[in-house]
Amino acid sequence: MRFKDFIVKILTFGIYNPKWRCNDCGKETFSGEFFCETCEKNLPYNNKTVCNHCGREIKNPSEYCSTCKETLVSVDKARSVFKYETPISGLIKRAKYNNGRYILDYFAEKLANVCFAEFSKSEVICCVPMSEKRLKKRGYNQSEILARKVAEIINVPFCDCIIKTKETERQATLTRRERLKNLTDTFKVTDKKPVRGKNVLLIDDVSTTGATAEAVAIKLKKSGALRVYLLTVASVPNKDGY
Ligand SMILES: [Zn+2]
Ligand SMILES: [Zn+2]
Repeated sequence: MRFKDFIVKILTFGIYNPKWRCNDCGKETFSGEFFCETCEKNLPYNNKTVCNHCGREIKNPSEYCSTCKETLVSVDKARSVFKYETPISGLIKRAKYNNGRYILDYFAEKLANVCFAEFSKSEVICCVPMSEKRLKKRGYNQSEILARKVAEIINVPFCDCIIKTKETERQATLTRRERLKNLTDTFKVTDKKPVRGKNVLLIDDVSTTGATAEAVAIKLKKSGALRVYLLTVASVPNKDGY
């Protein structure tokens, strides 16, 4: 580090160090906690009634949500720490850009806690990959960073064996099934050995419709994965709420 940078760092440390301020309301916390007490209490934790399969919040206690009732999918079980609501949704967006990268440490700890509780049988951790083009534009894949951090915390190997070969355009004219097929074709497992016969834990930041994770899970299962679990920071509840 150059001397000038060093001085600037020292001068700005006390004022801008995000660790000293609540990441939602901005109030000073002094303790180094990510959120102040009030904001922490109001976080949209996804810990009430959830669909046993996809892990989305449901209003009435029932084993499966309206979507999962009718479909058998390649993701065996999914969970998310939060619901995709403020302030979590905003933090997820910020974490995609370098000045918000520190947020990923906080998320990784939360993900790891869910791993211990729900996915203790995981043997390999993978992430939902980005296409090379997007990766170049963004600089990093936030899902990969999350997956690597979680792997370290829970002491399960991370495996960088899935690639996304191209970007998919939204094709409104296609049926859900055709869209999923198109999406699935963009993912490729480059090395089957680490996932064959294993319980694979897939990590991503957000689960919206679940189609992306499902597409990756299809490829993992084709490559011999025994079970595929999905863990995301946040999930968007089903539109009908059931
Ligand atoms: Zn706060
Ligand atoms: Zn469900």
